[in-house]
Amino acid sequence: MIGVGDMVLIEPLSEDTFIENLRKRFEHNEIYTYIGSVVISMNPYKSLPIYTAEKVEEYRNRNFYELSPHIYALADEAYRSLRDQDKDQCILITGESGAGKTEASKFVMSYVAAVCGKGQEVNKVKEQLLQSNPVLEAFGNAKTVRNDNSSRFGKYMDIEFDFKGDPLGGVISNYLLEKSRVVKQPRGERNFHIFYQLLSGASDDTLKKLKLDRDFSKYNYLSLDSATVNGLDDAACFRTVRNAMQIVGFMEDEVQSVLELVAAVLKLGNLEFKPESRCNGFDESRIKDKNDLKEMCELLGIEQSVLERAFSFRTVEAKMEKVSTTLNVAQAQTKSRKKVMGVLDIYGFEIFEDNSFEQFIINYCNEKLQQIFIELTLREEQEEYIREGIEWTNIEYFNNAIICDLIENNKNGILAMLDEECLRPGTVTDETFLDKLNTVCAEHQHFESRQSKNSKFLTDHSLPHNCFRIQHYAGKVLYRVEGFVDKNNDLLYRDLSQAMYKANHSLIKILFPEGNPAKVNLKRPLTAGFQFRASVGTLMKNLLTKNPNYIRCIKPNDKKAAHIFTDSLVCHQVRYLGLMENVRVRRAGYAFRQAYEPCLERYKMLCKQTWPHWKGPAREGVEVLLKNLQVAAEEFAYGRSKIFIRNPRTLFFLEEKRRQ
Ligand code: ATP
Ligand code: MG
Repeated sequence: MIGVGDMVLIEPLSEDTFIENLRKRFEHNEIYTYIGSVVISMNPYKSLPIYTAEKVEEYRNRNFYELSPHIYALADEAYRSLRDQDKDQCILITGESGAGKTEASKFVMSYVAAVCGKGQEVNKVKEQLLQSNPVLEAFGNAKTVRNDNSSRFGKYMDIEFDFKGDPLGGVISNYLLEKSRVVKQPRGERNFHIFYQLLSGASDDTLKKLKLDRDFSKYNYLSLDSATVNGLDDAACFRTVRNAMQIVGFMEDEVQSVLELVAAVLKLGNLEFKPESRCNGFDESRIKDKNDLKEMCELLGIEQSVLERAFSFRTVEAKMEKVSTTLNVAQAQTKSRKKVMGVLDIYGFEIFEDNSFEQFIINYCNEKLQQIFIELTLREEQEEYIREGIEWTNIEYFNNAIICDLIENNKNGILAMLDEECLRPGTVTDETFLDKLNTVCAEHQHFESRQSKNSKFLTDHSLPHNCFRIQHYAGKVLYRVEGFVDKNNDLLYRDLSQAMYKANHSLIKILFPEGNPAKVNLKRPLTAGFQFRASVGTLMKNLLTKNPNYIRCIKPNDKKAAHIFTDSLVCHQVRYLGLMENVRVRRAGYAFRQAYEPCLERYKMLCKQTWPHWKGPAREGVEVLLKNLQVAAEEFAYGRSKIFIRNPRTLFFLEEKRRQ
């Protein structure tokens, strides 16, 4: 074993020894390390021969601690508890952009697909589940400064299984797609992959039908300085995506509709508006060159005058509506209860120089996930000790509940105040919102305890005038309020949705139901913040019903390069992922536990009195066994149905003995 496979065993434990261990293992291509049952995954930035069919076989049906650390061990454990013990599972994958979350989620999915069920129908479902990835990535991923294939949305997928453990299908939820990227990309970044894939990979004939030119430079939305990505073959990806769409279940005409929409967006980006003064003194915008408009209308089946009018009367800013929140990959129905494995691949904590509404929302989501981590680990741990009658002393954690409260409190949380501001009549600006925050959160602080939510709203006089600062569990973050009100409102003017609804195009019609004149709703649409808070709430409720499995991804360097391990960068991530705390909790409690029967079965060969048959109760057999092996008494606690082992070293000792 290179270094230490489980951080719980490190002696002495310090941040330095922790990071040194990660480094040592990373240098030997050992990218996985445990903290008890949590898997730390270091991004190797090169392909390693550790995901082969042989590896799958090696890890299949083996105990977690028997083999060297691997993401497959976690996937196997989760799948077996789901199948054999009927416990719904969730796999929570966290880490910053480029740390390897999406890759990890795919390894988990392909492992589970490899070990579960067989047969034609089952294989078809598996293929559909796996092939949902290229489709989602084409439309939701983009090259960013941090990651050439960065997910610009959060994803949660429930994979459903029948009582035998065969997959039935899946339900995917998307969170907060970064739709502003369609219109504008930061320097050195690209738009969503699909645009480049389509132009590079579609046949001449298809492009002609879509009225598109192969040349990226013809389109304003496709930034030029970074239109191609090293090592990425857009044309080949297009073929993969087309094929995947078919497997997932898109009909040929549906694929065509989707591509028409993609083409229309490119045309939309080329529309230029010029102001025109009207005799009544108001300015109106007019479209300069009408050819793109004409082609766009042809693609979408909209009458040109209708769209032109809708554009000219309100806005020159083009926004796309959220696509859809759930996509049924397969809709299989059974009478018996479904077993579910949820896989969550969601953006990690973000602290940039310039943090806006998006970072605020993303970081809020991460606070909630941290909450879940705290609740589930502590709750699980405590409940089990109580159930088993084992003495348990509480371990002090930093509980981030007050930070969640600062953001989401219904009455005076930041999101509620933002909504209030957005709905208030009169002049509303980002500054009025900030004033309100400062009044409510900062000025009451003197009268409140240090444990109040507002203590996490930091004020000091060095703060730039248009910013506020929050003490997140992962660190302090400075947010600039510019754009908060607009982004939260997220308004699409009714003229536009009505024009879109009139389109003679099946897909567009579904996407703009609010444009249906019969359903004119004078209530204001829900704000972006409100919707996000609601969907995060639903997600958390869902996760709380499941048994959690954690993968903590770490990025070794900022260069997207193999073989480089930057201590400071790793240290930062170790801190904000709370990994040291995690080890301490693990060390304070019992690292492993197992029911008496399987424990005796596995180790009875190590002792004459228990081999080959033990006649009495399993619990007594285990006692005899451990006494005989002279394992120190403080290493064990006897629960009602399980043996608790404090230190994984003891377990390794037993395993070692079996091998001798
Ligand atoms: P984002 O938050 O931006 O979506 P992410 O955490 O999902 O980031 P990934 O897209 O999974 O990051 O990983 C970034 C890149 O790192 C991958 O495209 C791949 O090149 C490399 N990578 C990640 N994990 C592995 C791995 N286990 N083996 C080989 N390469 C990997
Ligand atoms: Mg990703």
